[in-house]
Amino acid sequence: MTIATELIPDQASQPAFEGQPAFEAGHPDGRAPITMLNPDFPFSYDHYLAHPAGLGQVPPELYGAEVAVVGAGLSGLVTAYELMKLGLRPVVYEAEQIGGRLRTAGFPSAPGVVADLGGMRFPVSGKAFYHYVDLLGLETKAFPNPLAPATSSTVIELAGEKHFAETPADLPAFFHEVADAWKAAVNDGAKFSEMQEAIRARDTARIKELWNGLLPLLDEQTFYGFIAASEAFKQAGFAHREAFGQVGFGTGGWDTDFPNSILEILRVVYTDADDQHRLIEGGAQRLPEALWNHAPSGMAYWPDGTSLASLHSGSPRGAVDRIARAENGDLLVRERWGRETAFPAVVTTCQSWLLSTRIHTEESLFPAELWTAIERSHYMQSSKTFVMVDRPFWKDIDPATGREKMSMTLTDRLNRATYLLDNGPDKPAVILLSYTWNDDALKWLALDAHERVDLMLHSLKQIYPDVDIASHIVGQPITVSWEADPNFMGAFKANLPGHYRYQQRLFSHFKQDELPESQRGIFLAGDDVSFTAGWAEGAITTGLNAVWGVVNHLGGSSAPGNPGPGELLDELGPISLD
Ligand SMILES: Cc1cc2nc3c(=O)[nH]c(=O)nc-3n(C[C@H](O)[C@H](O)[C@H](O)COP(=O)(O)OP(=O)(O)OC[C@H]3O[C@@H](n4cnc5c(N)ncnc54)[C@H](O)[C@@H]3O)c2cc1C
Repeated sequence: MTIATELIPDQASQPAFEGQPAFEAGHPDGRAPITMLNPDFPFSYDHYLAHPAGLGQVPPELYGAEVAVVGAGLSGLVTAYELMKLGLRPVVYEAEQIGGRLRTAGFPSAPGVVADLGGMRFPVSGKAFYHYVDLLGLETKAFPNPLAPATSSTVIELAGEKHFAETPADLPAFFHEVADAWKAAVNDGAKFSEMQEAIRARDTARIKELWNGLLPLLDEQTFYGFIAASEAFKQAGFAHREAFGQVGFGTGGWDTDFPNSILEILRVVYTDADDQHRLIEGGAQRLPEALWNHAPSGMAYWPDGTSLASLHSGSPRGAVDRIARAENGDLLVRERWGRETAFPAVVTTCQSWLLSTRIHTEESLFPAELWTAIERSHYMQSSKTFVMVDRPFWKDIDPATGREKMSMTLTDRLNRATYLLDNGPDKPAVILLSYTWNDDALKWLALDAHERVDLMLHSLKQIYPDVDIASHIVGQPITVSWEADPNFMGAFKANLPGHYRYQQRLFSHFKQDELPESQRGIFLAGDDVSFTAGWAEGAITTGLNAVWGVVNHLGGSSAPGNPGPGELLDELGPISLD
């Protein structure tokens, strides 16, 4: 997402949690933490995962039965990992590389120096995400967001005027007014504080009451329409709305999200998904890779030492190009190079557009209204450009100002946001020169990496005329435009106004009791099926939904005392607006 960390100013004092286990972080004041308990379906996936009875069982005669999982991103690998633990044999297909949008690129001349091209900062409120991070023993540290405690300083450049800040308090009153207007807008128009209290308390009845009341009022409202209509922003004036879009209140601009449904933004801010971010040491791709290689103990059927990697002899199968129904009711999955295998169940985790554009998916496998939802999904574009530099030179003190030479930078210029990623004093460092969305990302699309870097350095020169960034660059730049990659076709889903119904269909499809037999057994999971696309938490939780769906479809059940998402969907799930 376009990030505005520390959305509400009084959260700015929260500690960085350096060195603390990430899973426990999030409640410095002793109150229960905010979690990504999504208001559309406030099911506690973290409790479900932690339950000693596990996620369920399949009939023993099905031990070893194969289930296809399309995509080796985070969602596919969580799905496959949990199916393996239950005794099934997941068969993972992958068009490109393990990790999907958790892709980490290395700078070849400096082993260990990396750039996260997709997901890179993970909110501590994502409890299911950190369940796997902790299980797999991955190290994390605070991400250097604008004005975050882990960031020594931030420069905000707006309409040619520069503001230097070490903490939010250093910014001029104008930015505090913008923050106050936003706080008032979400409280007045979307019951922000009440919702956060209910989320802290895991009071699912209250969460549903609040959200179900807001849905019909806000589904057809854009983010921009919401702030423009709010009394607080009306009174503050256009300059405040404009600055909010360009740089937030010093924490990151939101304007590329302005055309999206306000519901998408509320889901993020209610659940603190935009706050207290951590990165994975060594790169985000280490998480899916660790899932692939990990051998859990005490599995229902497979002996200790079995991992997804060992079940696949080291590599997933290739790209899928067709999914169809066999005469006997099985699902047939064909690979790009012709091999076809029959399965009793299939989980697809790739962006759902790919089911019509890259995979010949038999139309009769899904109801027509689900196809509408798939086709109408709206994806954000996103571009990132990284360079490696010889050292974190920005930490040198400028004798003229007594400040570090360069800061994390937000600007209304082309670059929009520049992040400084330090690997330690004696190591090459990385600068994410520009991280952009939608129209801003499209401006880079036709340019190659060198053209992008030239323009980005030009912009930064206007902000830091005395800093020679280029003289520190070593190696080749790394750039990505997710919309240009045929295996993704976009960064991630962001619903437009009026799309709630589509999302409800996509999300709820894993519970198939009302579908005809001919449409059962194929499950959608992954980022764009979730209500919080753009956050890895949703990739995981929709994968867990699909696991429940497969187990149920094959005649299995949830563990006693640990009801699964399918059991609670009717009670807690997304309501119909019709
Ligand atoms: C630019 C960007 C920034 C992000 N920032 C953050 C962040 O900071 N924090 C956060 O929590 N989340 C972030 N996300 C979201 C996060 O990366 C995703 O939620 C998560 O990685 C999605 O996982 P997935 O398994 O659902 O999908 P994917 O990772 O897309 O996995 C699907 C897999 O399917 C494969 N595939 C495609 N077609 C086929 C085929 N025909 N056959 C077989 N395989 C196929 C793909 O190659 C891919 O590996 C970001 C994403 C992007 C793009």
